[in-house]
Amino acid sequence: MRLLIAEDDAALGNFLRRGLEADGHEVAVARDGEQALALFRQQLPDLTILDLGLPVLDGEQVLAEARVREPDLPILVLTARTGMDARIRCLDAGADDLMLKPFSLYELRARCRALLRRRREARLLLRAGDLELNRIDHTARRQGRLIELTNKEFSLLEKLMLQRGRCVSREELLDTVWHMEPVQTTNIVDVYINYLRRKLHDAAPGALLRTVRGKGYMVSADAGSSEPVASSFHLIQGRGSGSPATAIP
Ligand code: CA
Repeated sequence: MRLLIAEDDAALGNFLRRGLEADGHEVAVARDGEQALALFRQQLPDLTILDLGLPVLDGEQVLAEARVREPDLPILVLTARTGMDARIRCLDAGADDLMLKPFSLYELRARCRALLRRRREARLLLRAGDLELNRIDHTARRQGRLIELTNKEFSLLEKLMLQRGRCVSREELLDTVWHMEPVQTTNIVDVYINYLRRKLHDAAPGALLRTVRGKGYMVSADAGSSEPVASSFHLIQGRGSGSPATAIP
């Protein structure tokens, strides 16, 4: 998986990088807080190991900004600050784990494995409000009820949910879901968004699939469950065809 280490001590940074690369990860090292935040934004690492005492931008500021941007990406904080205040502040600010320096590399690797395990599981079941997308059996459920999706509808929803809270442009959707060059004349993305809105019963403007005018679409970061589930869902119950009403990858 993709890891980011933010550590200004070059020897320690390289030591950590080698140790985590030995576990099969792709590792980037940032030497200051600004670089850490830039790499975090560009790479969206599966795990960030963040030293608090960083030049340019302090680790606590990096943590706060990273959390606003990506609430779900795991961050393990390293600190030599033994005071309880800094440690509590970090956990309150959204650190998933915290280790005091000096630490054992074995323990750090074990904690990384635990965080990455949770990360992998979280990525297999994507959630937005009461909508769940299961990437193992390729099914979608809202309020626990199965929704029948075609391959393309599933891929489109998957792409938007993976980028939840961020606008995904039509060009990017055409490229990653349809493997098409951006074409001015096609409205295929908009057509499929409408299919999804109908199936998800997302008729209220922006309740779940939000249009970002002139840019693209996004799944709201704060997608709630206020939409009532009506009988217009395509449910497995009552189809009577005997065919599985699951979304097909
Ligand atoms: Ca430091």
